Amino acid sequence: MAAPPKVGFVSLGCPKALVDSEGILTRLRAEGYAISPSYDGADLVVVNTCGFIESAVQESLDAIGEALAENGRVIVTGCLGAKGELVRQAHPEVLAVTGPHALEEVMTAVHEHLPRPHDPFTDLVPPQGIKLTPRHYAYLKIAEGCNHRCTFCIIPSLRGDLVSRPIGEVMREAENLVEAGVKELLVISQDTSAYGVDLKYRTGFWGGRPVRTRMSDLAVALGELAGKDAASGVWVRLHYVYPYPHVDEVIPLMAEGKILPYIDVPFQHASRRILKLMKRPASGEDNLERIRAWRKICPDITIRSTFIAGFPGETEDEFRELLEFLEEAELDRVGCFAYSPVDGAKANELPGALPGEAREERRARLMQLQEKISARRLTRKVGKILEVLVDEVKPEGTVARSAADAPEIDGVVHIEGADQLAPGDRAQVKVFRSDTHDLFARPVAPRRLAA
Ligand code: SF4
Repeated sequence: MAAPPKVGFVSLGCPKALVDSEGILTRLRAEGYAISPSYDGADLVVVNTCGFIESAVQESLDAIGEALAENGRVIVTGCLGAKGELVRQAHPEVLAVTGPHALEEVMTAVHEHLPRPHDPFTDLVPPQGIKLTPRHYAYLKIAEGCNHRCTFCIIPSLRGDLVSRPIGEVMREAENLVEAGVKELLVISQDTSAYGVDLKYRTGFWGGRPVRTRMSDLAVALGELAGKDAASGVWVRLHYVYPYPHVDEVIPLMAEGKILPYIDVPFQHASRRILKLMKRPASGEDNLERIRAWRKICPDITIRSTFIAGFPGETEDEFRELLEFLEEAELDRVGCFAYSPVDGAKANELPGALPGEAREERRARLMQLQEKISARRLTRKVGKILEVLVDEVKPEGTVARSAADAPEIDGVVHIEGADQLAPGDRAQVKVFRSDTHDLFARPVAPRRLAA
């Protein structure tokens, strides 16, 4: 039998782009293509790009250039692909360019330049598809696109308005992942709390019973799938939860242990005026009230958020208001970007643009403050017993995460004396030290859950 045609794959960008990559890889394998781990072994290369900020655009253009130099036959997809002109200007020799979330278009381009094999090995594809994350955690993408028009963001023009996946389909994917041994499901989309708005919260079916296409109903269903008690079952973590009032509905589920007591909610700023210019809801005071209410219902909740420093027109007083908000809110995890004038973003037209240095200086000040807050909050965990999920076992030590730590973006728990653990194991550990972002612990009752 002839060797199957080989496709190389380069995946850049955020978890949402990663899920697109997984979809393309799954389809390629389903059609009988082989995936090449190197440029020179591939018959062509697909590059899934990111176009969110200037540095990501440059990284994507560099990756396309590298694939062209090493292989010569390149198909471009992803967020930067939505700006086809830019890609073609920089690299006119690419075979095809598609936008993000364009599985069918990518496959059409692959078929055109590398005909599909006659006998697809559909049975080689596991039911959960091909995953790029380690075996024990997986991103569960519930929707694509966004109905908001935040003035600093061009995602809606790249990915379009919100399109939610039917809840039955999402739950079946979650079931397949859990059956395949995944221990943690990370729910993602551009705007998780808007899930189902476009479908008017249509009722779907899972396990023969009706479930509405809505974030809180999805969280209940995932909690059921995860097991009666999140401490011993599969972890369910919610990301990109836009701060709508109905987010309050999922906090009791966290308090009851149905899903992880962790919420990733991008507040972006605290000043009412800046939030209005950003076209974001609420204000620092409103958000402080909600954070207090969430902590009252679920004292163990970990709150992660992202902010933008140096937005056009942001005064020193408004920036200080943001710092005061952070002092008051004591968020557990914070990411901050210096405002980046992304091509096509409405905010670029606002008066009072700050020079790059001032934006960067404010970002650094914010992160300096947050480091102190983070260190202070982590100190409170010293002496506590935590449930962790092991990510890596290396000669230098074992790295795990607790409910408070999402992969890639948050801190970790370093475990001493845990040689018997393997990636994907759950263990109980006692914290003996903390630093700015991480915890250090020793096993209390190491145990392996059945795979
Ligand atoms: S909610 Fe997020 S994806 Fe949607 S426009 Fe705002 S920043 Fe962009």
